[in-house]
Amino acid sequence: MRKTTLSFEVFPPKTDAGMEKLCGAGGVLDRLCALRPDYISCTYGAGGTNVGRNLEVLDKIREKTTGMTHFTCIGNTREGMRRQLQTYLEHGIRHVLALRGDLLPGTSGTGGDLNYATELVAFIRDSFGDAFTIAVAGSPEGHIESASVEADIEYLRQKQDLGATHIMTQLCWDMDQFRRWMDAIRAAGIWMPVDAGVMPVLDQAATINMALSRNGCVMPRALCEIISRNWIFPNPFVKDPFDADAEAKKASFKSAGMAYTVSQIAQYLDCDVAGIHLYALNKYDDVARIAADAGLTD
Ligand code: FAD
Repeated sequence: MRKTTLSFEVFPPKTDAGMEKLCGAGGVLDRLCALRPDYISCTYGAGGTNVGRNLEVLDKIREKTTGMTHFTCIGNTREGMRRQLQTYLEHGIRHVLALRGDLLPGTSGTGGDLNYATELVAFIRDSFGDAFTIAVAGSPEGHIESASVEADIEYLRQKQDLGATHIMTQLCWDMDQFRRWMDAIRAAGIWMPVDAGVMPVLDQAATINMALSRNGCVMPRALCEIISRNWIFPNPFVKDPFDADAEAKKASFKSAGMAYTVSQIAQYLDCDVAGIHLYALNKYDDVARIAADAGLTD
């Protein structure tokens, strides 16, 4: 019997074909739901650009399991947020991950009525009482814009005081830092359960991109070695590499990356987390295999 929760995260596809693959009969969501996750969350695009599809995906999730929507302050007015949140309730979505949102390139603020996730948590509680459970983001390595990890933890405590109930973490491969952060939030009086966000290591370019394009994540030596041993020349970002071994290296990277992800999950489970939140990247096979190898599914 599983003691921790298992959840998945998907994103609203940009194309009709992507929607069919994710939401169609026998598609990725049907198959992920067969693994009996405790909930599945769906991301919310910058500026609400994908709100329609986010809701369509959540309607599909709701047919089989609990749905959680991510929700951000970017470009949103109070009135617009009230309307959107009311629509979620009407669709039976009662769980929200309240985020500031990633700032749009070239901007320095949200461009909306609220500036921080703390304000969004307060707004949701003031406007809707207990209608929603409210999860918030935790950044074990410190948010890239924050003055210090300690300052971040203080804002996290404020989110709890304002009515948040649950933490979902940003990807963090640095397990020593993760353990220090868990101790530090508990010492700061933060009792919210923590779901560890796990980014499966499947693709070289995507892994480097996720770590460095926004989050400034530490990449441990073991992960760097997997990347270096399988480096696709001239670099993993070019579409037509001149590396004759490119396909074999992709496969070998994925195999080593999946084993790395499974071992990382084991370390999270030793850290007294409440759940494992797998960023499923709208994929089934690799994600199901990782969940099974990590002992998260029957
Ligand atoms: P905040 O908590 O507002 O923090 C932002 C910065 O401001 C931090 O440096 C913090 O220290 C500081 N700060 C916080 N509160 C205050 C305050 N009251 N006064 C002054 N400074 C403050 N982004 C999307 O756009 N869509 C998604 O669907 C999405 N899903 C995500 C899912 C997970 C699990 C995680 C961890 C992140 C996700 N993000 C998503 C990314 C997230 O929006 C970014 O990390 C964003 O830059 C910060 O969001 P936050 O909620 O942590 O912001």
